[in-house]
Amino acid sequence: MADVADVSIELATEDDKHLPAYDHTYLSNICMCPTWGIIRYGQNKAMSEGGRAMALEAGSAAHEFFAAVRLLEVLDQGHTEHFDYHGKRIFGDGRWVAMRDFLELESVSLSKDTTDRLNFCLTALHTSGFYDDPRDKKRTLSSIEESCIAYFDKWPWGKRPVWIRNTEDPTTDIGVECAVHLVITYTLNDGTEFRLRYTGRADGLHHRSKTDSALVVHENKTGARIDKTWLDGMKMTHQITGYTAWATVFSGVPCDRAVVHGMVIPLPKSFDFGGILDEPIRRHEHHFHSWLEWILFGYQIDRQYIHNPLAAPKFTHSCTRYFRSCSFMPLCNSPREEQPDILHEMVIDEWDPLAESKA
Ligand code: SF4
Repeated sequence: MADVADVSIELATEDDKHLPAYDHTYLSNICMCPTWGIIRYGQNKAMSEGGRAMALEAGSAAHEFFAAVRLLEVLDQGHTEHFDYHGKRIFGDGRWVAMRDFLELESVSLSKDTTDRLNFCLTALHTSGFYDDPRDKKRTLSSIEESCIAYFDKWPWGKRPVWIRNTEDPTTDIGVECAVHLVITYTLNDGTEFRLRYTGRADGLHHRSKTDSALVVHENKTGARIDKTWLDGMKMTHQITGYTAWATVFSGVPCDRAVVHGMVIPLPKSFDFGGILDEPIRRHEHHFHSWLEWILFGYQIDRQYIHNPLAAPKFTHSCTRYFRSCSFMPLCNSPREEQPDILHEMVIDEWDPLAESKA
């Protein structure tokens, strides 16, 4: 990295909360259009008439199901106390009771019946708060459920043990729904130092197999279309690089492997992979260099414009990205003198990748 003499990465602590925080979404959106990224994710502002983000909501609901599947793995590994402790952490007491109900037996062992286990996971989905929108016929609770059932059927039960920091202590970290919270310090050649937090939420941290303890980050993705082009994007994405870097610092064990689980909503009838796809990904040193360069690039743009976002560059090639008009068009296309008032009237819509939203 030009001008950078040293970079250090460590786990964030309470004392680091004053440092500016960046996650993959924020940095990606700064790079998409600095005006958009800084106003939407740096200042958490949105246009008031914004409707529901159905793709995000459907993905978020499905992630509750994925977490329940991973917790069943922890149970199968024989760690019932970890299972209960982290079930309550992730879902909250009330939802956990409703989920756990499906596994309860009068005998000392918990149900191994596939239908009971599936119902346990589906309850996580059904209590996620997702509800149908009459304007979206594709992302419905029943279509998410259908995809999740296919995911459950295809999950390689018992083959990829969940990472557990300490098997004797149920309150210890396990590799299900992990907060990513790092401090990255850049020291430039002239001695200047930049410190920032890098945040996110990793879906899973597993061992490679029952006989290979190498760590593998698991990332779940949902989408309407998951194909080779999508996979190529996953092979390159800084998100995976960031998670493997985090896994190394978090666990104290080097991690350069990931698996991306893609799930199509609604489930396609004709795809040869049946709408559920696993893709192993490897990270090398150059990926980590690129990731660190990209973070520094986004950080410097953010610091320059965070208090004056209307002066940030406008990357107009992004105004109609994904075949839709950017919701900030009414702001950016207004006379310059009216823009401060429009910005002031925008609503706050908080984006917090560290938020525990499931309880
Ligand atoms: S309308 Fe265009 S210039 Fe304005 S924030 Fe959106 S993408 Fe950027």
